[in-house]
Amino acid sequence: MGVSNEGGVSVKVACLAGDGIGPEIMVEAKKVLDALSLPGLVLWDADVGGAGYKRHGHPLPDETLQMAKAADAVLFGAVGDPDCDALERHLRPEQAILSLRRELTLFANLRPATMFSGLEEMSALRPEVARAIDLLIVRELNGDVYFGEKGMRTTDDGQREGYDIMSYAESEVRRIAHVAFRAAQGRAGKLCSVDKANVLETSVLWRKTVIEYFAKNHPDLELSHMYVDNAAMQLARDPNQFDVLFTENMFGDILSDEMAVICGSLGMMSSASLGTQQNSHDLPFGLFEPAGGTAPDIAGKGVANPCAQILSGAMMLRYSFGQLQLASEIENAVRKTVTIDGLRTGDIAFGCEPVGTVAMADAIIANL
Ligand code: NAD
Repeated sequence: MGVSNEGGVSVKVACLAGDGIGPEIMVEAKKVLDALSLPGLVLWDADVGGAGYKRHGHPLPDETLQMAKAADAVLFGAVGDPDCDALERHLRPEQAILSLRRELTLFANLRPATMFSGLEEMSALRPEVARAIDLLIVRELNGDVYFGEKGMRTTDDGQREGYDIMSYAESEVRRIAHVAFRAAQGRAGKLCSVDKANVLETSVLWRKTVIEYFAKNHPDLELSHMYVDNAAMQLARDPNQFDVLFTENMFGDILSDEMAVICGSLGMMSSASLGTQQNSHDLPFGLFEPAGGTAPDIAGKGVANPCAQILSGAMMLRYSFGQLQLASEIENAVRKTVTIDGLRTGDIAFGCEPVGTVAMADAIIANL
């Protein structure tokens, strides 16, 4: 299903640029979306993060949250501002993205790890291994140790002891397995579930539930299982053995960052966080954002790589609007700009003369 062009259907996107390089790369992603002339496209803007705190006294102002809820999808930049480091925890910019994930019940994070031809030299792996990298990490986002009961207590012998309770319910495992299955469609269709079932009860349940889910619903799919320590090693040894890898929240957090360094630059890595709700087009509501942060070291200099934000826009078109063709057009335009035209921002220049954020985005638009 895709967004229909008929009947004045609107495609409402809340654009939350945030801090640091966020506004610089968001404006370029919006230019790309505008260039597609998608009928009914409406791009709303609102403050979030440090910008939200400075203008409205809160990192996630109520009007921003309401706008996000009223939209069909959220295109997010990044939040984090050194000026706000001394604020109380609940007012820190980073709280905005955590609150949005909770408020919008975003439970599945999809992070493609794709090597763009010509960038192999940037990878931590040998170029001949890095060249073919094309995998998708699906991370459960709403459960696990990050969301369990946590606290600090005193032991009988008077020591302080921190604790975080790790838990997973069957339904949480089934719904992420289903997202992984959907994501595998249209790819090589090979799924690897990553857990720590040799040690953790949560992982024992995870593995059992995954096996049951696939046996019942998709018995023909190629499914394998791997312990997380081995998966971390295999990703660094030969990531090309994987197609779709899906895993628990904390393991996914770590493995997806490992892939960022393997793929060369955060500036090329997009992500999607999908929610439990459908949008007004009967497609998954989602929040789409670059994998990187606000990059304070380069903010305001006009040198940030806009590709991750632009590619996040492509993921939004694919997952929340069913516009597979337009999504591929954006991805191909980015690929052509980087690979064939050889344009590079500083983070991926590797000996080339770097171009700025605007020049990079303009070249991508010209290649659409
Ligand atoms: P970071 O991702 O901002 O930067 C790490 C390195 O990657 C820096 O050298 C930076 O220049 C580079 N980089 C990142 N994106 C780039 C791009 N598009 N183009 C070129 N180079 C790019 O991580 P950090 O320095 O650890 O964090 C900075 C701030 O961002 C912190 O306040 C952190 O909390 C926040 N943060 C926010 C998010 C989010 O909003 N989802 C995610 C991560 C970090």
